[in-house]
Amino acid sequence: MKKTSTNVLPAEGGLGDEPLLAVDDLHVEFHTRAGTVRAVNGVSYTVGPGETLAVLGESGSGKSVTAQAIMGILDMPPAVIPKGQIRFRGTDLLKLSEEARTQVRGQRIAMIFQDALSALNPVFTVGWQISEMFRVHRGMSKSDAMKKAVELMDRVRIPAARQRVNDYPHQFSGGMRQRIMIAMSIALDPEVLIADEPTTALDVTVQAQIMELLAELQRESQMGLILITHDLGVVADVADKIAVMYAGRIVEQAPVYDIYKAPAHPYTKGLLDSIPRVDQKGQDLYAIKGLPPNLLDLPTGCSFHPRCPYRQDNCVTDVPPLYEISGTRGSACHYWREVLDGDQQ
Ligand code: SF4
Repeated sequence: MKKTSTNVLPAEGGLGDEPLLAVDDLHVEFHTRAGTVRAVNGVSYTVGPGETLAVLGESGSGKSVTAQAIMGILDMPPAVIPKGQIRFRGTDLLKLSEEARTQVRGQRIAMIFQDALSALNPVFTVGWQISEMFRVHRGMSKSDAMKKAVELMDRVRIPAARQRVNDYPHQFSGGMRQRIMIAMSIALDPEVLIADEPTTALDVTVQAQIMELLAELQRESQMGLILITHDLGVVADVADKIAVMYAGRIVEQAPVYDIYKAPAHPYTKGLLDSIPRVDQKGQDLYAIKGLPPNLLDLPTGCSFHPRCPYRQDNCVTDVPPLYEISGTRGSACHYWREVLDGDQQ
């Protein structure tokens, strides 16, 4: 895509008809020696203030690459964005100059990464790392910035924040380190927060606490939250809507309640059936057969056809569009009615 860059930052204040963030027909490719990896193939979604969108899919489904494109942290090249828009408050971020993009990144759209231990710098205290946000972006003095760091550590419920502000990352548990990452990401009151698998490295109880914390912070600040995960079980209580990704496309998009009640895509159904349930103790856990496709050589027709129990002949040749099921729901499956009704072929 030819880039005509601008320094005009997205407006603040009222949104009018525009969503807070809108990803529109986004395509991302990686040009490698082995060929072109089509990582994101026409993804569209929106998130509004105070809204939580869960983006769900296996590794390689394109969910994290889409997030990195929103943040503007893809290595380009080898990444190329041949098509699409990422509108933040109506301004296409892909058209912003790098200078303007830097002012959006971290300040107005922030991101929490999966692995807090490698994201934090081991040789600086956590207080120093949190307070850096205020020193660099707000021009605060060291002592004022450190006070703000303690406030933030309190806000993300780190016990004895005042005493622990001078500790190093390795002195904290995994859950506490993730809280520190969350503190850093919300330091500058972002309007959109992207959490990329924020609880994957944590045990189940701590996962629930971190999810609860994110939901609480979001309620307080009315951020738009994009929660990226491979685990449908994690998002049930916190998401408003879900976008399920497979092979770089959204295959189902719906309010969270609709998806849990009755999925309209065989892949979503497979993900739901894979969640362990206490009432099925002793039974084999369901797993979707086969492996995610090679993005260098996507299957013809519907990318899910080699693994799909609902497959028909036309699935091998015809790419399913995102069929509109209702005003808020879509499924990229030719046979979404049968899936919704639970009629396996
Ligand atoms: Fe399965 Fe066909 Fe639907 Fe693809 S389009 S998910 S192969 S039934």
